[in-house]
Amino acid sequence: MLELLIAASRDLDEIFLLQAHRDNPGFRARLEELPREAREDALAYFAIQYGLYERQHGWKPWVSGVPDRPPGGGFYPSTLTKDEWERFLDEHPDREPELVSLTTMVVRDGEQLSGVPYSRYFADPLEAAAAKLARAGALTRDASLRTYLTTLAESLRNNDYRAADLAWMDLEGQLELTFGPYEVYEDELFNYKAAFESFVTLVDPVESARLEQIKSLLPAMERHLPIPDEHKNLSRGTASPIRVTDLVFNAGDARAGIQTIAFNLPNDEEVREQKGSKKVLLRNVIGAKFRTILKPIAERVLTEEQQPHLSERSFFDLVLFHELSHGLGPGHIEVDGQRGEVREFLREHYSTMEEAKADIVGLWNLLYMIERGDHPEEARHGLYATYVAGLVRSARFGGGSAHGRGAAVQFRLLREADAIEIDASSGRLRPQPSRFVAGVREVARRLLMLQAEGRYDETAALLATHASPSPEMQRLIDGLGGVPIDIRPIFPLAGESAATLTLRD
Ligand SMILES: [Zn+2]
Repeated sequence: MLELLIAASRDLDEIFLLQAHRDNPGFRARLEELPREAREDALAYFAIQYGLYERQHGWKPWVSGVPDRPPGGGFYPSTLTKDEWERFLDEHPDREPELVSLTTMVVRDGEQLSGVPYSRYFADPLEAAAAKLARAGALTRDASLRTYLTTLAESLRNNDYRAADLAWMDLEGQLELTFGPYEVYEDELFNYKAAFESFVTLVDPVESARLEQIKSLLPAMERHLPIPDEHKNLSRGTASPIRVTDLVFNAGDARAGIQTIAFNLPNDEEVREQKGSKKVLLRNVIGAKFRTILKPIAERVLTEEQQPHLSERSFFDLVLFHELSHGLGPGHIEVDGQRGEVREFLREHYSTMEEAKADIVGLWNLLYMIERGDHPEEARHGLYATYVAGLVRSARFGGGSAHGRGAAVQFRLLREADAIEIDASSGRLRPQPSRFVAGVREVARRLLMLQAEGRYDETAALLATHASPSPEMQRLIDGLGGVPIDIRPIFPLAGESAATLTLRD
């Protein structure tokens, strides 16, 4: 069954490649014509980036003679401009639903734009994947997984993922599969379009059960958000399962560039209001990143006396609470009599704001747990130090990443609040203990309110000045040469080995 799930994931991988850029198969074919020495490295790097653009460096092409990446990736015609889009929508308001849909590809037909459902645009690979999922469903004795796989196969064929999302929320076995079009980060034009991805994971039941207890505290966390009650989202479903898993295969959006350490899905607000959302933590990925990346970063960016505070447990908790906090705060809002989701109001700035919010509100909630006695007081300085070092780790992802921009925003705002100090002689960072909690509260409040009130212009203005690393942060990032930016997964279960995937230095 795992073999089938991995094979179906590989079908999604080819789809995502087209969503990243419509010319990607052609680009890859050209790399295959390079002389052998250059070809191997080029193809390996192409596989990491899913294309010819540096995801960590503002989408700069990594080969010469390539045009800039279209901001909308492969989801829209590459020559489409925002002006043309807005003009067309003004003239054809009836076409809006199909064009802004999460699950359509936008194509140009003469003067016309239209939205083609994924199920039609990608009919062949989706049918191939659906058949494998249906076969896998027939093999499992896990009833919840069988229902999910059957429903999911249907979703791939009819382009409606709501039923699959609902069945995904009910998974309760030892195998967690996440499969479909989810995140909108790849579409930097509008954040409208969902990219295909897959995570195949195995659950740790003991650790997951322990974390389940935290979910009973979610309503208290929502009430404790530092915003007026009218903006709190107290009606959301609270059935928010948490799974701690080990990743055995990923594909598509999940595998491109920076590796995901945890996720919170589904994104469909209707499903979230009905069933809540589920957090999946990828423990083997979190551990690998802590050891190979965060620890060496902290050794260079934190002051000497802060370094003993760094802890893998704090890193894990910050990741967990980041995911929990995606499910807290404003969801559906009303602005000037118009009702919609926050992402519809903040548009291309939504992803950055949502990632920054999840980080800072996650920390805010952990501090609240300490205040309540639900988390040990001794963990406090570990959280401060690990969070601050973690901002530098995320900011390194760069301007092409919502997480990278979100970390730069938090850092600048916390500096303005005097919550992070810079040691005058070493240039290294130290949380300012007497200002830290107040600073976190203020930054959380500011980001949550921009979301609650759907303030597009103010958000754009904030990001214009804050979404790139400050000079002091940039100096620290520049001093991280030799520390890996990320890990590259190799999945033996899927027949991969270092020999077939490794880039030479
Ligand atoms: Zn996130």
